[in-house]
Amino acid sequence: MAKKKGSKTKKGKKPHKNKPTSKKYTKYKIDGEKITRSRFCPRCGPGVFLMEAKDRLYCGKCHYAEFKGKVKKEEEVKKEEKKE
Ligand SMILES: [Zn+2]
Repeated sequence: MAKKKGSKTKKGKKPHKNKPTSKKYTKYKIDGEKITRSRFCPRCGPGVFLMEAKDRLYCGKCHYAEFKGKVKKEEEVKKEEKKE
């Protein structure tokens, strides 16, 4: 005697749910004829945008992080030049 399989669990169509749409289009701003894009990931390349926090940029794909406050001031650069 062969047992009946799947007699209790229903097979077939699942209730369709719409997937959340990509928010990538929000990273593009069209100003007249110019298109400006947000910062993209230097590792992943254009197409993968960086998440923007208050003091840093972060890539959700490769976990690349860029800190906004890391930009050297002119005075700091001059000091480093003197050392050498
Ligand atoms: Zn990345």
